[in-house]
Amino acid sequence: MISRNQQLFELSQKYIPGGVNSPVRAFKSVGGTPVFFRRGQGAYVWDADNRTYIDYVGSWGPLILGHAHPEVIAAVLAAAHNGLTFGAPTEAELEMAKLLCGLLPSIEQVRLVSSGTEATMSAIRVARGYTGRNRIIKFEGCYHGHDDALLVKAGSGALTFGHPSSAGVPDGTTSATLVLDYNNLDSLEQAFSRFGQEIAAVIVEPVAGNMNLITPKLGFLSTLRNLCTRHGTMLIFDEVMSGFRVGLECAQGLYGIKPDLTTLGKVIGGGMPMAAFGGRRDIMQCLAPIGPVYQAGTLSGNPVAVAAGLATLRLVQAPGFYEKLAASTRRLMEGLTKTAEKHGIVFCAQQVGGMFGLYFREHLPTSYAEVMDCNRDAFNRFFHAMLQEGVYFAPSAFEAGFVSAAHGDDEIGKTLAAAERVFGSWK
Ligand SMILES: *Cc1c(COP(=O)(O)O)cnc(C)c1O
Repeated sequence: MISRNQQLFELSQKYIPGGVNSPVRAFKSVGGTPVFFRRGQGAYVWDADNRTYIDYVGSWGPLILGHAHPEVIAAVLAAAHNGLTFGAPTEAELEMAKLLCGLLPSIEQVRLVSSGTEATMSAIRVARGYTGRNRIIKFEGCYHGHDDALLVKAGSGALTFGHPSSAGVPDGTTSATLVLDYNNLDSLEQAFSRFGQEIAAVIVEPVAGNMNLITPKLGFLSTLRNLCTRHGTMLIFDEVMSGFRVGLECAQGLYGIKPDLTTLGKVIGGGMPMAAFGGRRDIMQCLAPIGPVYQAGTLSGNPVAVAAGLATLRLVQAPGFYEKLAASTRRLMEGLTKTAEKHGIVFCAQQVGGMFGLYFREHLPTSYAEVMDCNRDAFNRFFHAMLQEGVYFAPSAFEAGFVSAAHGDDEIGKTLAAAERVFGSWK
């Protein structure tokens, strides 16, 4: 019998390209039929066939409180009753801006937008406008949304500018983007000694979560900070994923580095479409209506989205919130690692706060090339076996995973018991 999930996927492919509204949802990397969700509550989601899963995707990061947290839902409903959108300033936006500036010392002014892509695109534009330079640096494997200038792969030589990684992106748009290796200090020093005075900005995920999970090596972020300062280059921390996910002070607080600009998204919207970019006042003052850099949005600072974000950011400030989140995540990582080891499976895992990486390889990867070297067949097998067991991990070996505050001992215990069955019958 054909399942409801299969039925929906087949129909969706007729009306939506690939059947999905964002590519990774299509299960292309792991194969099989994507799960259509109909409901979420806490750590759990229910699919179209009414199967239950423990969810470690959390909508790719936003749901740090789990699904449908009652206080977030109440805030959203209350805001909606007062009108969905005005296209005019509201007091709640001021509250959000004050909160973000208060929580992150690097942010003196902030502007709200509707997606992470908009935030990074705008941050780069304002960095270019402020410096009057065109060139930017990004790192291979870091994802900053689908802005043209950032859909770029490395050029053929070590220090050649990039080529589009997507059709439909003009060469001219990416030819000012230099793509370097994450965690590689030598190439960074070389790039700055060669092009330093021409580089408007370096954009980096201070904890990389879009090539599985890669942590910054000791000295990587501080060297980056020093080089940017010395050359008048803007350092942009893309914390759309790591922001309020690795801790209340975000990755910049965790590693003690102050960027010039920060992009936020995911958690700060509490599951609604909201993101932000902010930083030094003198840079942010370049934005219209006071400065020459144009940036705008009909739904920017949307009251319903801001309400969800404010409710979420209120709850994550509870004492001990991040300690507990990190402890649950640690229990999951240690449990999975032990189980794999017991059954002789090549596997390792790590976490930063409430985000984690699982790798079917001997050692923790430190670069895109090393992540690419993971055993994908093993991951895909693990993914499908865990899905059968009612555990939903990201449907790709190259995405980070997320634990929420709703994942308690019970959910972690059930996940580890499922992993024991999966790894126990591996051979
Ligand atoms: C998700 C993500 C983005 C893009 O955000 P969208 O809301 O999907 O446009 C940008 N940067 C990072 C680091 C992300 O994880």
